[in-house]
Amino acid sequence: MVTNFWYNPFLSALWIVSVIAVAIGVSLIYKGRIFCRYLYPITAPLAVIARTSPLEVRSKAMATNLPYTSLNSKIQSKKGFTLLPVINTSTSKPTISRGLDSECKYCKTRDCYKGNKETEGCPWGQHPAAMMGNSACSMCMKCTHSCPYGEPVRLLLRKPFSELANIFRPDCFEVFIVFSLLGLYSFYNWSTIVDVFYIGFHDNLVLATYSIFPFLTADAVEEYMVGYFAAIGIGLGLYSFASVVSSRLSRMRFKINFSNFGYAYLTIFVLHFLLTYSIVYLGNLGQYINIALSKIGINLYIPPNFLVDYTQPVFGIGNSEVSYESLLKGIPICLAIPIGGYISYRIAKKMTKTNSVYRSLMV
Ligand code: SF4
Ligand code: SF4
Repeated sequence: MVTNFWYNPFLSALWIVSVIAVAIGVSLIYKGRIFCRYLYPITAPLAVIARTSPLEVRSKAMATNLPYTSLNSKIQSKKGFTLLPVINTSTSKPTISRGLDSECKYCKTRDCYKGNKETEGCPWGQHPAAMMGNSACSMCMKCTHSCPYGEPVRLLLRKPFSELANIFRPDCFEVFIVFSLLGLYSFYNWSTIVDVFYIGFHDNLVLATYSIFPFLTADAVEEYMVGYFAAIGIGLGLYSFASVVSSRLSRMRFKINFSNFGYAYLTIFVLHFLLTYSIVYLGNLGQYINIALSKIGINLYIPPNFLVDYTQPVFGIGNSEVSYESLLKGIPICLAIPIGGYISYRIAKKMTKTNSVYRSLMV
């Protein structure tokens, strides 16, 4: 019975043992941490969110913020980079950019990938010299130590979110994760809105679902089946509908629209989530300082809201008052929407130019 799952020691132990058993089973069949990458419900979202990071492990030639101009690709050629068949979509001409560093081009060992006696190879099964995305890199830095030729691969700074507009192979599974997160975050309380228009809809849905899954408890049905799964379904459903409309209008395949633009919404999720919670935690900063000081033997009392008291009204509109908290919570969404919109524009530009390049190659 799925009841009190998190508070029942036997069921909790069973859950942990099952996760370990599946992880061992999958790692015996597949290499490259497939379980962490695709199956584990915590690392799979983290892998997608890693694409927004301001850090990357890359060779210089593969760096995300490399300016992809035809001039730059000529300079790369002169410096000895091998050009890979990636179509440069930032210029109007069908030029080719990106490539391997000169050391990697002539490298015979590929220790960064395979490992050597001192250091193991990339645990995620990536070839670091040709890597273009963060989603399968844990930044363990093993490749930077195993490379026998100095440091062609290194930790680089880049513009946050810049990878999202330059994804080489958009992945439907990653977009599925993005909209599962957005759905959970945005639509978990969907039933309160629906109940305004259809009173009792939520209760009837819980009863109907319970009759299909009688081996679950009513609470489990309400929280997981109707709460979580419906929220994920709403997020995915809305985006899929938008992708169908967009593919009809643009005459592009549904899968291409679905997988490319989904990354722009990741910006909205990450910015909104990070900033909203940072703002909420700032209101309790005193409490965290008190706890940290008590751990080193200093017992002080700093009021939790010493920095900012969110409950204080800033101004009033009619009979209602607007507090600092509601005002500050508007900032993330104000930032997230234009940045997400800009990334959508970059993705659309890339897709349009990719299409025109393919069309010109086919003529
Ligand atoms: S990073 Fe080092 S080991 Fe890997 S391909 Fe390049 S030169 Fe070879
Ligand atoms: S060895 Fe580590 S840092 Fe290098 S690509 Fe693989 S996961 Fe990333």
